[in-house]
Amino acid sequence: MTGRVAVLRAYGGEFELREYPVPEVEPGAILVRLTRAGICGSDLHIWRGEMKEVYGASPRDLTFGHEMCGRVERLGAGVTTDSRGQPLSEGDRVTYLYFFPCGRCPVCLHDELGSCPRKARPSRVAGTPPYFNNAYGDYYYLRPGHFVFRIPDEVSDDVATPSNCALSQVLYGLRRAGLRAGHTLVVQGAGGLGLNAVAVARDVGAETIIVIDRLAERLALARAFGADHTLSLAELTTADRRVEAVKELTGGFGADVVADFVGYPDVIPEGLRMLRSGGAYLEVGSIAPGNVFSYDATALVRGNARLVATANYSPWALEQALSFLRRNLRRFPFERIVSHLFPLERISEGFRQADWRERQSDPLSVSRAAITM
Ligand SMILES: [Zn+2]
Ligand SMILES: [Zn+2]
Repeated sequence: MTGRVAVLRAYGGEFELREYPVPEVEPGAILVRLTRAGICGSDLHIWRGEMKEVYGASPRDLTFGHEMCGRVERLGAGVTTDSRGQPLSEGDRVTYLYFFPCGRCPVCLHDELGSCPRKARPSRVAGTPPYFNNAYGDYYYLRPGHFVFRIPDEVSDDVATPSNCALSQVLYGLRRAGLRAGHTLVVQGAGGLGLNAVAVARDVGAETIIVIDRLAERLALARAFGADHTLSLAELTTADRRVEAVKELTGGFGADVVADFVGYPDVIPEGLRMLRSGGAYLEVGSIAPGNVFSYDATALVRGNARLVATANYSPWALEQALSFLRRNLRRFPFERIVSHLFPLERISEGFRQADWRERQSDPLSVSRAAITM
């Protein structure tokens, strides 16, 4: 038995599909038959060659992809439940962390598994056993003892796919930033992360949610996800005017939490100016290297500002992401986050189109497309 893996040989180029043998499943491991994989903003950065520091000067047989879900194809000996203790059987739909905290270091010990400096990522070189190490392929090999969660029956694959990246990241980040009921939140960027942030903030009980983006259709979607106010970069063309607008909407004080989901360094000083005294700035968007910003440290000190940056998340966030989705399926239009679906054999077209959409609209925005197996 073999399965396909999408392999990239030149940045910005075509993927080629290669067949590899489906591995035996060792005790404690799980073989997942993938059904969906997302094209995330960071996947576009990798594809374009903007992450060469991590992925190498040229992509030697590169495989990647980290947002996914699928069905248990085979359970290794001894696996009877998911990480919540729910019974797990072959055929069950699952999602899981795409990184592997070591569980044996001071950072893991302090309950920050997502920050583990020794966390492992599966091999990105095609042909490395157990062959199915990333999201763009027919299978995924989950190492023994990994965090895995059954997807609730009510939550479709399309809605579940971004849960192990965008949604978990947002839940974790907003919790660390201290967002609470009654707070005001400013969301910079209404892409996949930003829309999830709006829904999570509403669920948490935020009083006022303000979203900033350039595209009218994204702002309309942000309102459908529960935003109270949307500010358009096309209308408010300077940072001063946008900061002023946020101040006006917050009684002159500024927001309790401002979150960057854009990943373009100019938005950070602008967002910092939108904070109330004692507020928290959450930085999530900057993934590609070189996002340097400058800001007056005295203003941070006088404003008692808290700066919180998050990459990855602790395993509880994925479990909460799934219960959040089940609880809010009818409340928010999650099915509208993924705009385009491509079969695995047309993955190159999926990337080209996601890239084109991102460039057409705004270099600051994030497109959402997904691959079906
Ligand atoms: Zn992602
Ligand atoms: Zn660790």
